[in-house]
Amino acid sequence: MSKAIFITGGEVIHPTSTEHADVIVRDGVIEAVGRGLSAPDDAILVDARGCWVGPGLVDLHTHLREPGREAAETIVSGSQAAALGGYSAVVAMPNTEPALDGIMSVSYVITKSAAAVVDVAIAGAITVNRAGHDLAPMAELAAAGIRIFTDDGNGVQNAAVMRRAMDYARTLGVTLAQHCEDEHLAEGGVMNEGEVSARLGLLGRPAVSEDIMVERDIALSRLTGCPVHFLHISTAASLRAIAAAKVEGLLVTCEVAPHHFTLDETSLENYGTQFKVHPPLRTRGDREAVRAALVTGVIDAVATDHAPHADELKELSFDEAPAGMLGLEHAASLTNEALGIGENPLAFFALLSRAPARIAQLRATDVRPLTSAHGGDVVTGEDANLVIFDPRQNYVVDRNALASRSRNTPYDGRSLTGRARATIVRGRLVVNNGELQ
Ligand SMILES: [Zn+2]
Repeated sequence: MSKAIFITGGEVIHPTSTEHADVIVRDGVIEAVGRGLSAPDDAILVDARGCWVGPGLVDLHTHLREPGREAAETIVSGSQAAALGGYSAVVAMPNTEPALDGIMSVSYVITKSAAAVVDVAIAGAITVNRAGHDLAPMAELAAAGIRIFTDDGNGVQNAAVMRRAMDYARTLGVTLAQHCEDEHLAEGGVMNEGEVSARLGLLGRPAVSEDIMVERDIALSRLTGCPVHFLHISTAASLRAIAAAKVEGLLVTCEVAPHHFTLDETSLENYGTQFKVHPPLRTRGDREAVRAALVTGVIDAVATDHAPHADELKELSFDEAPAGMLGLEHAASLTNEALGIGENPLAFFALLSRAPARIAQLRATDVRPLTSAHGGDVVTGEDANLVIFDPRQNYVVDRNALASRSRNTPYDGRSLTGRARATIVRGRLVVNNGELQ
């Protein structure tokens, strides 16, 4: 049994209200929440003055790179980056080598995750080897505890395959998540298609390659009744389609990544490969549309799309370098800034914890390898997955001082505001005073 933790002087963030209260954690659960509690004799003290005390953050979209590309990241190093970022759980994407498309590879990740400092949930692949043709053994994987499926890295291109996957997913009670890019339209493109790509002489990936797949899957969700989650949405038109689908009552949810509401295609003017990502950084108008939709209910979640790549790959030419950027250590700061520094704790925890936990079904305790619930309320009896977040702490991003094995952050040298002071996973203090314990 781990030592008790006494979190004192913070502002506890409930779903629709906030409360100045102390929190006592013991044996993996929240033992008490209230004003003026006294510290248990044996407790570790966490000074939460000036901080939000809320459910640990949940990332719907983490590339842990293990198995296959351990030079870029491992389950353990990725989990450490997550804990520093305030996360108590991450969903590991299945585009590993081999892909997480069957019991063998999934079991490998479950075993390795025992050494992670945060809880690791797994997204299974929709199709065998993520090739887009034959469905993965979804029933078998669902029986093993997988609750979310995606071919992320690629979208499922064939509408008939996606329809079949939706029919299965609906009966299994699992969620399908889609990387929305039509590969024929996006083929060969390395950035957003438009005036900037024309000026830079780079081949573009048009916004419509995303919009068309979002529209298609909305239509398929309407047909099958299957819930669909749209990953890393980047265009204003996609958001309009999703907003309309929600008004219609369809079971659609979506996430956005911080780079799509903080950066745009003009960042590419120096051909910096740290800004290369799929879907690409879009226009200023798209960036503003994404940012505005954070608080309208159209966007359910902020997810990192944490995509580590080794320096030697990111140092290739712009055309050859792999797409993707780090996210776990800075997403909460960037979201805090976008919502107005320290101004919107309810939206902060809705976007970064409560909604992602609901979408990935991390409230259910039968999800393996998880045995504790995330994204819950800070109340007595709840599993103690918590973050103590200081919304006003300033720091400067240093790419050489990250927990990730990779350094491909587009925010190097940037001053950010808001940082996790402490992260508690299953009642254990894994980060305190901003440092891994
Ligand atoms: Zn993706």
